[in-house]
Amino acid sequence: MKKLITNLLALLGLATACGQQGYENAGIPVGMSDDAYEVDTFTTQSGKTVKFHALVHASIRIEYDGKEIQIDPVAKLGEKTINYAAMPKADYIFITHEHHDHLDTTAINMLTGENTQLITNQRCAEMLGYGTVMANGDTLQIADDFTVEAVPAYNTTEEHLQFHPKGRDDGFILTLDGLRIYIAADTEDIHEMTEIKDIDVAFMPCNQPYTMTPEQLINAARMVKPKVLFPYHYGQTDVSGIPSQLEADGVEVRIRHYE
Ligand code: ZN
Ligand code: ZN
Repeated sequence: MKKLITNLLALLGLATACGQQGYENAGIPVGMSDDAYEVDTFTTQSGKTVKFHALVHASIRIEYDGKEIQIDPVAKLGEKTINYAAMPKADYIFITHEHHDHLDTTAINMLTGENTQLITNQRCAEMLGYGTVMANGDTLQIADDFTVEAVPAYNTTEEHLQFHPKGRDDGFILTLDGLRIYIAADTEDIHEMTEIKDIDVAFMPCNQPYTMTPEQLINAARMVKPKVLFPYHYGQTDVSGIPSQLEADGVEVRIRHYE
């Protein structure tokens, strides 16, 4: 009976979330400690280090030159809990849009200190009551060595338009001392991606019905041509075939625990 209720709850969750099916079956260890997250390290043009911690789904922790950057921090998703209290306060928090697998006030509050700056879209700033608002097309110089651009993220499939309507949500391109990072947010393979250039590291979503199919993800990767691609926000989607399909395009695909 308990299992039945759990399954029913999971189904209800599916109806309202923009993408978290399959958490219970994804084989993710529950309650992993902070050092259990996979970390990928990159070096900027002047030799600084950028570390990406694969927290969960669409939640990414980025460490850069003593600064803490958190993308869509979410403290609890499915059965997985992220202990943000064990992490340093964030210098910058980016929120792409209002869905519960991206906007979570519990995680935001745990990460917010005296000097935390939160950058988001209009809707989330209204819901939170604060935040620096960026609309699609806006650029913000955050520091001498840190710029951010807000780019479109939306659905194009007829029956899916209501999930992420055009113009509401933000994808972000962060440039850290020359290293260009594209956080696509919840989007399909939109034509605006052809204008996104010189990306070193890209995060692109891959789950139905909310974002892209693996085929769309491959198409998106061919438009953006990142040096390294992390499929994220992929739920139960089988992404194992993607790396070989992008090999000839010169895109290195790294699959981490972003179910
Ligand atoms: Zn989502
Ligand atoms: Zn969403």
